[in-house]
Formats: sequence, structure tokens, C-alpha cells
Amino acid sequence: MPKAREMLKEASKRTEGHEFYNSLPKGYARGKTKYIVITGSVISGVGKGTFSSCLGNMLKVFGGFNVVPLKFECYVNYDSGTLNPFRHGEVFVLDDGTETDLDLGTYERMLEKNLSRSSFVTMGRVFKTIIDKERAGKYLGRDVEFIPHVTGEIKGFARRLATESKADVVLIEIGGTVGELQNSLYLEAMRELAYEEGRENVCFINVTYVLQPGSLGEQKSKAAQLGIKTLMSVGIQPDIIVCRSENPISEKIKEKISIYSNVPVERTIGFHDTRNIYRFPTFLKESKMDEIVMDILKLRGKTELSEEARKWKELAQRVEKPEREITVGITGKYTTVHDSYISILKALEHTAPHLRARVNVKWIDTTGVDDNNVKEAMKGLDGVIVPGGFGSRGTEGKIACVRYARENDLPYLGLCYGFQMAVIEFARNVCGLDGANSTEIDDKAKHPVICILPEQEEIGGLGGTMRLGGFDMAIKPGTLAHKLYGKAKVRERFRHRYNVSTDCIETLESKGMVFSGMAPGKRIMQVLELPGSRFHVGVQFHPEFTSRPLNPNPLFRGFVEACLKK
Ligand code: GLN
Repeated sequence: MPKAREMLKEASKRTEGHEFYNSLPKGYARGKTKYIVITGSVISGVGKGTFSSCLGNMLKVFGGFNVVPLKFECYVNYDSGTLNPFRHGEVFVLDDGTETDLDLGTYERMLEKNLSRSSFVTMGRVFKTIIDKERAGKYLGRDVEFIPHVTGEIKGFARRLATESKADVVLIEIGGTVGELQNSLYLEAMRELAYEEGRENVCFINVTYVLQPGSLGEQKSKAAQLGIKTLMSVGIQPDIIVCRSENPISEKIKEKISIYSNVPVERTIGFHDTRNIYRFPTFLKESKMDEIVMDILKLRGKTELSEEARKWKELAQRVEKPEREITVGITGKYTTVHDSYISILKALEHTAPHLRARVNVKWIDTTGVDDNNVKEAMKGLDGVIVPGGFGSRGTEGKIACVRYARENDLPYLGLCYGFQMAVIEFARNVCGLDGANSTEIDDKAKHPVICILPEQEEIGGLGGTMRLGGFDMAIKPGTLAHKLYGKAKVRERFRHRYNVSTDCIETLESKGMVFSGMAPGKRIMQVLELPGSRFHVGVQFHPEFTSRPLNPNPLFRGFVEACLKK
């Protein structure tokens, strides 16, 4: 049988009368980049993304490899921009402005790397690419089919990422679980990828779940076996099985899974619940995961322990041994879904090893909060955060929280919407601008202190249309922001439509509000602070998106530090 490689070469020369579709980008060298494909079975939501990011961290930190992730998302939305965080968790924003699933945030944090839109592909994006190409006549003469064209485009995304990132390893996470119609095209594309790249270049890992029903008290592997069988029925033989479970996996269970799946017991790895994510990479290394992966992919990694590895190990220990504890209130309407604010929770956690403190979070539903009962809502708090948000629900309660924080010198950090709330509160209660509001909340506000960005006025449609992604910012010398960042030029990530109205900047400043960060050359205010207070800071951007475990965002660090000075 002719080699897949030769058949593809041939396909790139001819299109007519051929069943292959060439998805090799220009300059692509097969074997240069290895692929690890991670699928899930049994149930979703058991930490496939967490496992993948920890695997990436282990390969990077212990093995010294350039690891780049790629998430294949099942939904048909073009990106995550229009998703409701209450249903789907936080919308994460990349530096290039792509609105993604929260998993990309986990990857950026665990790999300490800025990712681009090439690392996030939805089924909607795959289809749009194909329709656009078809209309441009790129498939001229051919009927465009799921196989080979759709699967070809999917492989194309993976290979383009490999080429442009010069990755040693592309870590591909397939959304959903095997057996769903939604991800069947991705799975078929991955089967083809392994066939074309060669088995020594693609490693399949199935993350399954071992149930332990309370009524039985013992672990049961049947669901895992069936899940793996479903994967095998689409032509994918896993190389490694990762068994997620509540408690450590017994040898008996590993053996059972091994027999049913053709995966040796040594490659059936238990990965049970642990609270501390920073322990996982070391745990994977101790399970010899790195040796197994390198053996399958014929890779050779570093052997000596790097300084970076030492820092991650230290981080894992420090997170577990706090010396102090504080409680921070976070207001928000998605208070039932903790994933809606995952990056904020992580950014707070990142300060822990540096400040040796555990930050507990209390969620505050602001829909019923006002100036009369706000004291009750703020009880026991060492600081308060008003995070990003849209629409009018709960905003009066948020403004009451900001007022309480300002008047009682309780550390305050306003993130995006929280920045705008702080401007409204100050305008109303300090500058005497009664009825000050944002036009997002009240388009007939007497004092529209927050209004639509000029560049946004003409924009119609939703999805990818806000002021999005990383922008440079000028920090005013002599301010708290300058002290925290330690420099005059920083870059942060934005996702907004509204900003401080230029008409009211002077009034706000005359009463003591300091705008310490601005868009260079523009009158877009991006950081506010109140000198003389312990910490009263609002930022028009999302510092939580750039915070990293070994490198906490300076604003979160400053905020937690202020909360600690009780
Ligand atoms: N709704 C506000 C705006 O569009 C704030 C956005 C946010 O908090 N991300 O400007």
C-alpha cells in the first residue's frame, strides 16, 4: 500500500479525480511537530482541560519542550463572544482580541504563554472557513464533503498552528465526550491525522471517569470501558488512559481497563481529585507520564531540573501553607456559577504564595442591596471586588457597595464594569452630580458620566465588535498604579463598549479622583484611584486575564496586600 505521505504529495499536485484533500500548509514538515490528542469519555466536566494544561506544564517545565495548545470546541458559534457566562462560564479574552472559552485561560496560566486565535477553533469557525472558501472558488469543480474537506480543514488548523508556532508539541483538546455527534468530525479528523503523520508523531490520550457510587462504596469501571470502546469504534486506539476519579484508582480497576482497551497497565494512569492544581504536573511526572509520552512520540527532553521547575514545586507547597486568611466579597449576578469568574479567582490565588495568605471569597448578590442594607452585605469582608458585567441588573446595589467601600476605607478593586460603577458613585456622591449614570443603564441619564466609546458608535451587530484585546497604556508617574506596576508603559486586555465621558473628567479630577492610566494619545481613562484611601482602584480592563501563577498581576497583589493590612 502506498504511504499516506506519498498519496498526499500526489494530492497536492492534482485535484481532479482524487479523493484526497491536501491540508498541508506551506513549508510544513511532517514529524517536526508532534501531536498529543486528548479526548474525554463517560462524562464531561471532569477536568479534561485541567489535565491537558497540567500535562502541557509538565512537558514544558520538566521536559523543556515548546508546547502549544489547541482547543477544538464543538459549538457552532464562531467564538465565545456571545455566550452567557451563566450558562457556559467566563469568556476569556486573548491579547489578539479573540473571545474564547475559559480553558484558554487555564492554558495561558499553566503554560505561562500568550496564545492567539490559532489555538481556539469552534465548529462555527470550521464551517465559516469552508463556506468562505467555497464561495471564493477554492474547491472549484469539487463537491465539498464532510470527508475529506471538513476533516481536511480541521487538520489544516492543527498543522497551521504547528507551523506558525514552531511547537515541539501541539496539545489538541477535543471538546465534549466521545460518542456525541457534535465532536465526531473532530475525532475523524484526528484519526486521519494519525494515519497521515505516522503513529510515532501522534499520541492519543483518553481522559475517562471511574465512578464510585455512594451506595456501593467501591469503584466501578464499566462506564469507562464502554467509553473507551466507543473511541476505539471510530478507529482511534488510545495510547494512554487517564482515569479521573474521586479517590485514588485501585490496581484492580487499572487492570480491568487495560484488558478492555489494549492499553498496558503502566499506561493507565490514575488522576484523582486534588484541590491544588499546582501539584498536578509533579504528580504526572511521578506517574512517569513524561517518560511514557516521550517514549510514544520518540522525543527526548531535558533531564536536569530547571529553575522554573523548582519555582513551580515551591508554588505548589506555598499554596497549601498560608499564614494568614482574608475574605473578599465579589459582587455579581452570576453568583451561582463560580466558573463565570474563574480568572478573578485564579488571580487572587496567584497572590497567595507571595503574600502567604489564603483569600476566601464571599459572593454578593447585589439585586437587593441598597445604601440602607449595604453594611449587612459587607459584614466580615476585608475587601470588595466589583467585576465585569453588562446591563442594568444589580447595578444600584454595586454602586452602594462602592460607596460603602469608599466611605469606610475598605479596599476596593473595580474591574471594567466595576471601574465604571466607581466613576458613577464618585460623580453622584462626591461631585454632587445627581442622576449620574452610564448610558448603558439609562440612556436618558441627566449626567451621562459613562458613555459609548466614539469608535463604537457606528458599530452594529454583536460578537467580536467590542473594544477587544490587549492595548498599551500610559501610567502616570507618582501614582499608586505606577508604584504597583513599577513602570510607565503596560499592556492589559480589554472588553468593553463604554468609557468615561470626556466631559466629566475635569469635574471628577477636581474632587480628587486621579486617572493614573490612559490610552496613549487618547482621552480614554483606564485606571482610577483615590489618593489617601487604603486602596480604591478601578480599571477599565481585565487584569485577571494577564495574571500568572508565578507572576501575579500587580493590581491584584496590591489589592490583597491592602486587604491584609486590617
Ligand atoms: N458593560 C460595560 C461596557 O461594555 C463593561 C464591560 C465589562 O465589564 N467587560 O463597557
